[in-house]
Amino acid sequence: MSLEKVTGIVLETRDIGEADSLVVVLLETGLKENFLLKGIRKSKRREIVAKEIANLISLVYYHKKNKEVFSIKEISVVNRFEQLKSSYYGFLITNAMIELVNKFIPKNLEQKKIFELLHQALHSLNELGTSPLSLPFFKLRLLQNLGYAPKDFECMYCSQNIFEKRQAFIRSTSFEINCVDCGSVPENHLDILYVMKKMTYVNYKTLITETISENLLNQLDLILNQFIHFQLGFELKSLALLSQLQKSF
Ligand SMILES: [Zn+2]
Repeated sequence: MSLEKVTGIVLETRDIGEADSLVVVLLETGLKENFLLKGIRKSKRREIVAKEIANLISLVYYHKKNKEVFSIKEISVVNRFEQLKSSYYGFLITNAMIELVNKFIPKNLEQKKIFELLHQALHSLNELGTSPLSLPFFKLRLLQNLGYAPKDFECMYCSQNIFEKRQAFIRSTSFEINCVDCGSVPENHLDILYVMKKMTYVNYKTLITETISENLLNQLDLILNQFIHFQLGFELKSLALLSQLQKSF
């Protein structure tokens, strides 16, 4: 057994027994691990804050090979992303990003890129504020990193650049794209595909300075949600809450 020091983002916390907590953390190495925090609910506020979801934390823990749960010796908060969590909308977006990452990445699989994506997203939204672009951008980048969503925008049949075609369609259950010459186009998605391409190749900070119609962003978000729902087999609570909120605007 050895003492290890790591940094990670809190994905989930669960109370265990009288005073202990189980904390699920996505480590900077990209591994998702479970940690046991003994006596935390009886202890000081600083430590209670340390297990709040979406916090970037620093941990010293007892490492042992092939263990399912590691015991924490020390825990501290590196960044709470307080600005982001201070608004209701920001809080909901944060929850949604965390829930997506937690549900999509399995244990025992190194996902360093996903840690970097999540870390960068929390950092950017904390600094720059949220916009209607924030969540669809994150969802698309996450699904691309996991290999589900396309980075090349071409017809799956003729392999031609989709933007040279008059019309195109993207299936929300598979992200397969077809042009009007090769298959049916129940709805023309060229505008949405163009937004997806921008989100793939332009960084967030630059993209929020451009004008993208909110209607297009909502349509893209709907397609992304349908894929996520289909892929996981259930609806994410945080996403359902956000779409209810959008409808009430
Ligand atoms: Zn085609």
